[in-house]
Amino acid sequence: MPTAVFVHPHPDDEAIFSGGAMRRAADRGWRVVLVLATSGEEGTMPDWVTVDAADHRRMETAEAAAHLGVDELHYLGYRDSGMAGSEANRTVGALAASITAAAADLAELLRSVGADALVGQDPNGTYGHPDHVAVHHIGLDAAERAGVGELLEVTLDRRWLRELRRDRIERGRLDPAAWCAVELERLGIDDPDAALVRLDVDAELSAKQAAMAAHASQVPDAADFMGIPPGTFHLVVRHEWYLRRLPASGPGPLEQALLRPGPAG
Ligand SMILES: [Zn+2]
Repeated sequence: MPTAVFVHPHPDDEAIFSGGAMRRAADRGWRVVLVLATSGEEGTMPDWVTVDAADHRRMETAEAAAHLGVDELHYLGYRDSGMAGSEANRTVGALAASITAAAADLAELLRSVGADALVGQDPNGTYGHPDHVAVHHIGLDAAERAGVGELLEVTLDRRWLRELRRDRIERGRLDPAAWCAVELERLGIDDPDAALVRLDVDAELSAKQAAMAAHASQVPDAADFMGIPPGTFHLVVRHEWYLRRLPASGPGPLEQALLRPGPAG
């Protein structure tokens, strides 16, 4: 059974950015290993959470992982670096300040699970968070050290998002002020030459949404996410985008398995 490793910075990123692909890979005969670099210690916690943030988020992740068909869940044990410019960026053990060590840890894990494919983060860190940018470098480095032949990176297609925003505004479904264009321009990548793979995860949407709902402390129903208002965010979640880094020759086995048409109906 081939093994796909998905590495994300914080609990909830796996569900939001790659939940559909994880569920599909599991359904199509892949062993799915989830690696979280931190426990999301710096996440804002709602009042109803009375235990330690990291403990609570690990609990949420275990539930999300079950919805996504995860066979193994690992933590690299680094600290959440917080938003760009925050004090937490420089805390001892912060992920953003531990890239070399974390890459060595991940490489060891990739070897021990026999990874055939790795899914990491795009160079922009999806929305610019320092830990997401750190995981981009960690994934690249670890894949090379461990000799993993397929590397995909989660991203968002900024061109597609621009088009979505324009369309929603034209149809009168979106107040232009509700989804600020400046915020949108910070998301994902805009590179016409990139090998961008788009997945429609409609078939996996209920599992993906259940996994997102498991992260109730971080993904409230009615809030903006990455600046995208709730009425529009659900349209984004139905799609996932992956940047192909390896192999250079074209789609690898994981990508082929994800893009294969599913059973009819
Ligand atoms: Zn994150």
